[in-house]
Amino acid sequence: MTPDHGAAGRIVRVETFVVPPRWLFCRIETDQGVVGWGEPIVEGRAEAVRATVEVLAEYLVGQDPLRIEDHWQVLAKGGFYRGGPVLSSALAGLDQALWDIAGKAYGVPVHALLGGPVRDRVRMYAWVGGDEPSALAENIAARLDEGFTAVKMNATGRMPALATVADVAGVVDRVALAREVLGPHRDVAVDFHGRVGAADARRILPLIAPYQPMFVEEPVLPDRPHLLRDVVTASTVPVATGERLYSRWDFRPALEAGVAVVQPDLSHAGGISETRRIAALAEVWDAQLAPHCPLGPIALAASLQVAFATPNFLIQEHSIGIHYNEGADLLDYVADTSVFAFNDGYAARPIGPGLGVAIDEAAVRRASQAGHAWRNPVWRHDDGGFAEW
Ligand SMILES: [Mg+2]
Repeated sequence: MTPDHGAAGRIVRVETFVVPPRWLFCRIETDQGVVGWGEPIVEGRAEAVRATVEVLAEYLVGQDPLRIEDHWQVLAKGGFYRGGPVLSSALAGLDQALWDIAGKAYGVPVHALLGGPVRDRVRMYAWVGGDEPSALAENIAARLDEGFTAVKMNATGRMPALATVADVAGVVDRVALAREVLGPHRDVAVDFHGRVGAADARRILPLIAPYQPMFVEEPVLPDRPHLLRDVVTASTVPVATGERLYSRWDFRPALEAGVAVVQPDLSHAGGISETRRIAALAEVWDAQLAPHCPLGPIALAASLQVAFATPNFLIQEHSIGIHYNEGADLLDYVADTSVFAFNDGYAARPIGPGLGVAIDEAAVRRASQAGHAWRNPVWRHDDGGFAEW
């Protein structure tokens, strides 16, 4: 070890693994034998992110992994062109792996390096229903049996550019049913998924406001932040957005529009480093952090580390049992699943070093032999035109 390099040595290898159901993992190894895991993924674009990780790895090999911020600056900005889902997600996974290495090198969980825990447990919500919400009451009841106190559901399936009376009633009826099953002491979040036009969002939000959803998510598409303020002021329902925003600069217009909840994805928005900064920025507008995470165990572990160290954290998503996880699930790649055993709908504070999750490397290598070629569905309207999924 040269004086230029710290306790973790220098990076000698960066590997990537495309694994079912639709994920991409990265593994960084140092010459001191320290290994860090990350999850760089854009769902449906795994191959493009993998290629970008391989390009960024050219810079990382030979470097001291403990200079996380300096690496973040170079990887985010050093290519001149910056931002967007593919580059920001490649960076995000590498950033997670570097924090994992740092925690392991210092023998502490990442949240200790972020200033220490600010809470004792982290509230989780669970998904109910699929793309086309049905059997909603049964799904909610099952999640309540598991101990969760909050659920999230899709507001709707495919929606026309302007909704019919029946389309609008369908959304309102589902939210009303969810409230009835949940009672007054539990929460429902409603994901509009960018499927609902801004005019319809302004129409629907006041109608579901009496059922007091915890928040409504992506009521307009993320490339239309100029429409957000009118949607925010259309009702008293808190508005959330952010799974398709990738940096603090991307979040600024949404915060200025008055969103109540920011949802950066630890695997899209520049990793632990940038999500911490997005959370701090959100605090200026009294907005809360609810990290998006329909992904795998590394992304969830990274999210929990941030959740435990961030004052304005609200609630955490997870993908266990989600409708996307066909053929493999989050726990398949974890050596000790107890870190993701939620009690009464809360996650306990991880105490292991780094991201606090032991990845089953043999399972990852085995699964990567099969890989995947997951693509999101392409929906069409009745007239054959493209519909938002
Ligand atoms: Mg969403």
